[in-house]
Amino acid sequence: MIDLHSHSNISDGLLSPAALVEHAAQHGVRVLALTDHDDIGGLAEARMAANVHGIQLIHGVEISVTWKKRTLHIVGLNVDVENDALKSGLAAVREGRLERAKQMGAGLEKAGIHGSFEWASAYAGQSILTRMHFARFLVEHQYAKDTKSVFKKYLVKGKPGFVDHQWMNLESAVSLIVNSGGQAVLAHPGRYDIRRTNMLLLLEEFRALGGTAIEVVTGSHTGAQYVEYAKYAQMFGLKASQGSDYHGKGISFMEMGRLPALPSGCVPIWHDWHHLNLASDYLSLNG
Ligand code: AMP
Ligand code: MN
Ligand code: MN
Ligand code: MN
Repeated sequence: MIDLHSHSNISDGLLSPAALVEHAAQHGVRVLALTDHDDIGGLAEARMAANVHGIQLIHGVEISVTWKKRTLHIVGLNVDVENDALKSGLAAVREGRLERAKQMGAGLEKAGIHGSFEWASAYAGQSILTRMHFARFLVEHQYAKDTKSVFKKYLVKGKPGFVDHQWMNLESAVSLIVNSGGQAVLAHPGRYDIRRTNMLLLLEEFRALGGTAIEVVTGSHTGAQYVEYAKYAQMFGLKASQGSDYHGKGISFMEMGRLPALPSGCVPIWHDWHHLNLASDYLSLNG
């Protein structure tokens, strides 16, 4: 019913913002955050569609961050799309993406794979360029059978299409979100290659910078990870968020409308969202 992480074709999702909102409505979602990578350009279209389909749209974004040489994703919820600092900060991240994509193309070129940058940019069109677009080039040209295996073979550290890129720092990402009136959420923590000691450091730093929540229930977490990250949230006094991270048919961890409830003991991030207009029985059941 509440899905606070999703992508449209403004970034690497398959559906237009309007089609994504319609898809969410058809799958029983009532509150949806559109959280495209480093871009808030889809929110205006999504808002119009939300009005048509009876969805409460949360204005979101997923910012790419480098922390201790690792890439992390910070989701911003309820951000102000008119905020100039947010707009220019995101524009700077997107500019870095274009240069990185050229380097990814050059890396693949060296491995004897030709024309990936040109194909990926044409295919992406107005969308921002992500590894997902290169993944589709490689699958389309039969270098791998699906997006899962293609990442392992070509697009992760040590592989020809991988480029070590400097994203925004954690402090800037959290400040941009918080200063535009939003809440910062550490996205899918179970997907980072971070051991416990560093996870504790990260959560400490994230909270000190003004972070609000951890994504506890997300498409790429296992059941055991729901429990693990619910504990981390409680340990640090952070709230819990939930989202499918839907990208489209065939390239998503989870269909929309299938999120299980947050583990008991979590304080949902929407606990004090007074603008949220849900049945009061639902809110009391879920915090
Ligand atoms: P980028 O931000 O350009 O590095 O692209 C990252 C995007 O690629 C993520 O947001 C996911 O949508 C997708 N992605 C990353 N790793 C994988 C993977 N192992 N399998 C499938 N998709 C992935
Ligand atoms: Mn993505
Ligand atoms: Mn992510
Ligand atoms: Mn995402």
